[in-house]
Amino acid sequence: QAKESGRGTRLFYTGDMAGQPAETLQQEHLLREAMAQQALRLHYQPQVHAASGRLAGFEALVRWQHPLRGLIGPDEFIPLAESRGLITPISRWVLREACRQLKAWHDEGLPRVPVAVNLSAIEFRQRDVVREIAQVLTETGLPPEYLEIEITETTLMQQAEHTHTTLQELQALGVAVTVDDFGTGYSSLAYLKRYPLDKIKVDRSFVIDTPGDADDVAIVTAIIELARSLQLQSVAEGVETPEQLALLRRLGCELAQGYGIAPPMDAQRTRAWLQALAPA
Ligand code: C2E
Ligand code: MG
Ligand code: MG
Ligand code: MG
Repeated sequence: QAKESGRGTRLFYTGDMAGQPAETLQQEHLLREAMAQQALRLHYQPQVHAASGRLAGFEALVRWQHPLRGLIGPDEFIPLAESRGLITPISRWVLREACRQLKAWHDEGLPRVPVAVNLSAIEFRQRDVVREIAQVLTETGLPPEYLEIEITETTLMQQAEHTHTTLQELQALGVAVTVDDFGTGYSSLAYLKRYPLDKIKVDRSFVIDTPGDADDVAIVTAIIELARSLQLQSVAEGVETPEQLALLRRLGCELAQGYGIAPPMDAQRTRAWLQALAPA
């Protein structure tokens, strides 16, 4: 599990790069090589309806099959990619691969559910981001209603005009948008009303200590209520225990995702998981 192996150690120095130029350059070189050698992987984590447990979709999560360190998670290399101008090719690969894979599963007759793809701020700010997404949908043949885009709250707060236009274009295209890591940014709640959004994803830092921590229960309750009042779907991430799931269900949270439901799985395991849902 990438999450485990990466814990506590940082592969890259991603702050002031001046400190370790040689190492950074070497990692940058490795990352470029990774792209060329197709060493990026997508894992898929199921999202279920909290009330019924029924599959609602997947979130695509990128990993790097590192030559020395094994499988490493995005927190270890996305910041490097962003600072070295590599995020665009990585994002394009992720988007294309997620759409291609989902379409292939649909064509196999497996249960048709959407896939959510994370878009970094740098990508979201590209002027042609929606055209790029539309093109990938056309090329892969995945219908737009099976793609969702996850954008962090912090990203949504920047460049209001561009953000508004981009979200309107995504809505027109039929692609749903989720506010990721909700509650961790400098949120002005006004944007929830102003922008065409579909889902709010409660950050896992608020879920992790429920139901024991009364403050966290209060925060999660408030976010779910807020989503309901604004007619947005609520998603909880980082659901690890049956008690957490029971609480979310009681609060009326619509979707849940976390190790307690299913971990992120490689394509082969995800396919087997899908197949087990719908025996031929
Ligand atoms: P995120 O979008 O908030 O994704 C959820 C993260 O929580 C994933 O970490 C997932 O493995 C982890 N997780 C899932 N269930 C649980 C749980 O029950 N408990 C705990 N403690 N963690 C859980 P991962 O895969 O390491 O991804 C980290 C972040 O990297 C993601 O956070 C997302 O912001 C970013 N990321 C992932 N894939 C991409 C990508 O393709 N492009 C970009 N730009 N960012 C990505
Ligand atoms: Mg996400
Ligand atoms: Mg998240
Ligand atoms: Mg999060």
